Amino acid sequence: MKRIDIKIGFECNNLCDFCAQGHKRDSAARKTPAQIRALLDDARRRGIDGVVFTGGEPTMHPWLLGAVRHAAKTGFSAIQVQTNGRRFAYPDYCRRLKAAGVTEMGPSLHGATAAVHEGLTKAPGSFAQVVKGIANCKALGLYVLTNTVVTSRNYKDMPALARLLVRLGADQFQLAFVHMVGTAWEKRRELVPRKTDALPYMKEALDIGRAAGLLCHTEAVPFCLMAGYEDCVAERIIPEGPVSDADFYLESYGDYRRDQGKTKRAGCRRCRWFSECEGPWKEYPELYGWDEFRPVPAGKGRRR
Ligand code: SF4
Repeated sequence: MKRIDIKIGFECNNLCDFCAQGHKRDSAARKTPAQIRALLDDARRRGIDGVVFTGGEPTMHPWLLGAVRHAAKTGFSAIQVQTNGRRFAYPDYCRRLKAAGVTEMGPSLHGATAAVHEGLTKAPGSFAQVVKGIANCKALGLYVLTNTVVTSRNYKDMPALARLLVRLGADQFQLAFVHMVGTAWEKRRELVPRKTDALPYMKEALDIGRAAGLLCHTEAVPFCLMAGYEDCVAERIIPEGPVSDADFYLESYGDYRRDQGKTKRAGCRRCRWFSECEGPWKEYPELYGWDEFRPVPAGKGRRR
């Protein structure tokens, strides 16, 4: 499937330490309904059949329901709202999104307790709202896939978070290793762990999720660190397609990641995963070097 990512506005009711959008909330304009309609219509004409509405915080856009309705009317088969999840605490809002045609609810949860989650979101009450929101979505029979940004402050919480998501009935979760852009770049020294420190906890979370039948992935963790968990590498399933950002349009987010955002080193050419692997985001080896990433010899590691 090809999917368009439309960032419909950059306001947000959280103030997450790791926000990849940085300070766009102060300057970037909301997209108008006409702009959103035009993006959707153009994408459908080009055979794109998935859309994810993101931001900023898409639920703060007054026309999100209209955007979802228009996407459904024009034939998108997968319509996702990727959100901080707080507004899902209102059952009627979830019902209206479902009636409008949303097919996937994508809230974010960054810890198994209010202290851990809100220590990152800086939004009191946001943990209880997201937990209630996931329960509301599941009560309506909606598909729920969550995103978690893994940082120095929450990586040890990943197994408890996985257990909570299983209890709540989430269908799928992704553990995204923090990307050092936006405010995450400004706070990188306090926010970014070494991947090898975080991975034992992330893998325990994957074990818990998979044992319960959830689809589980990690993002921005190359294959050489995922021995035995290669089927959980998110880059294998991220849909290809364009991104409409604040003031630019990327024809292919996948090409951007592979050609500019992420990096590999010369030694990676010896690795059995070289052609499939995107490498880490380029800022990571600038901070911690390459010693964690060891080329995997041919014949080692599972291919699924
Ligand atoms: S290509 Fe490089 S970064 Fe990717 S898995 Fe192999 S050694 Fe790791």
